[in-house]
Amino acid sequence: MAHRRLGDWHAVHRRSRVRIRLRLPPPGRRVMKDQFRLEYDLAFLTSPAAAGRLSGTKDARKVADYLLAELDSLGFDSAFQPVTVPAARLTSTPRLIAGTQAFSPRRDFAELTAFSAGGRVTGQLLVVREDDLLRPEDFNGRVILLPERPQGFNLAETVKTAVEMGVAALLVEHGEPEWFHKTVYTGNGRIPVLRVKKSVAEKLSNMNDANVELELPLQHGTLPCNNVLGFLHGASDDFTLALTAHYDHLGDDPGGVRFLGAFDNASGVVTVLSVARELAKEKMPFNLLVAFLTGEESGLWGAKQLIANPPAPLSAVINLDGIGSESKLNALRLGHRQRGDPLAELGEEILSKHGIQGQWVGGSDDSSAFISKGIPTLGLGQQPTGQARSVMHTPLDTRESLYIETIRDGVEVLVEIVKTVDPKGLRRSLGSQIQLKEKNHVHTK
Ligand SMILES: [Zn+2]
Repeated sequence: MAHRRLGDWHAVHRRSRVRIRLRLPPPGRRVMKDQFRLEYDLAFLTSPAAAGRLSGTKDARKVADYLLAELDSLGFDSAFQPVTVPAARLTSTPRLIAGTQAFSPRRDFAELTAFSAGGRVTGQLLVVREDDLLRPEDFNGRVILLPERPQGFNLAETVKTAVEMGVAALLVEHGEPEWFHKTVYTGNGRIPVLRVKKSVAEKLSNMNDANVELELPLQHGTLPCNNVLGFLHGASDDFTLALTAHYDHLGDDPGGVRFLGAFDNASGVVTVLSVARELAKEKMPFNLLVAFLTGEESGLWGAKQLIANPPAPLSAVINLDGIGSESKLNALRLGHRQRGDPLAELGEEILSKHGIQGQWVGGSDDSSAFISKGIPTLGLGQQPTGQARSVMHTPLDTRESLYIETIRDGVEVLVEIVKTVDPKGLRRSLGSQIQLKEKNHVHTK
């Protein structure tokens, strides 16, 4: 084994496969060079074995085991942190048949998990347009199709009204995507609610009164999951910087459609793991907490749990969600709507030194949970543009669509940011921020 050619990816990969079967890296044989580790990590997180890492599944558990073993072997004190994650999960393949025509899940229609109940429905189709004059009793027991969404359409209100009128199921036209985006948000839906493709809605709108059979095997429930935590003591114990990335994604659809979540967020996990590998080699002046979080996709549950029960008070957080969608790391989204956070400003400064533009855009990912608690937070991620934009939450978010070099650049920049964090400086600027706020407060009085 001494003359292994590390440049030969296939050799490394073959060896890797053995490790997938073993699940845990064999101790003392960490000979793979870091540049291959990153690709191997990414291959594992997006492999069929990981099956899309839906929180609460055995596949997500496999990934958690892997991440824990990696942190362990780097010398981190590592442990699982239990998190209960509410989410909507498909248990088998949905079916939609109108008359004699069967439609295909995820291509022609998709469940709106935040509004929809699971269930099996048969009923007559009723096509409803904006100016139709219908009596409330016309809706009772029918499967309603809205073939177009009028201006100012409000889905929540529409679903509420449909339930009140005894509608059996609701189908709403929603554009012409190649794949419908998958979500696992849960809600307290009472009837099945689906998005249907515009072309399918057009077809259905000529089928008024047709018999519709709809089966939506959607389960809403809370399952036990884990955050994966690794703690590395620094020279001083009174400042803890957390590096976080969510490892959960949306899982496979029953029946084979696969959501690998390469960009979202296998990319962020492998980046943070690579940064951890770099930083584990040196004595840091402060504590490092690496946290691979679960339950992001259905409501930031892992981040909320970490905030509620941190292994040490969180002094600052750097979260990474989505990197490698573009061929160059020329811009990174900062998880803040505006300036003011000292850590985010430091991050922007270092990014700009590397010619990378920071874009101040809020949004909802794990960084939002930390920001909302007032913890100094740098929420990093790429903002996919063009084609990359439409692959989010679809089966097209694969490893092949990622630019590895961009991820490597991300590792480099992130290592530099962490090494530049000065706990005293951060506290000072936090202090002056608070003073400024107080001053403004007095002034506005
Ligand atoms: Zn996502």
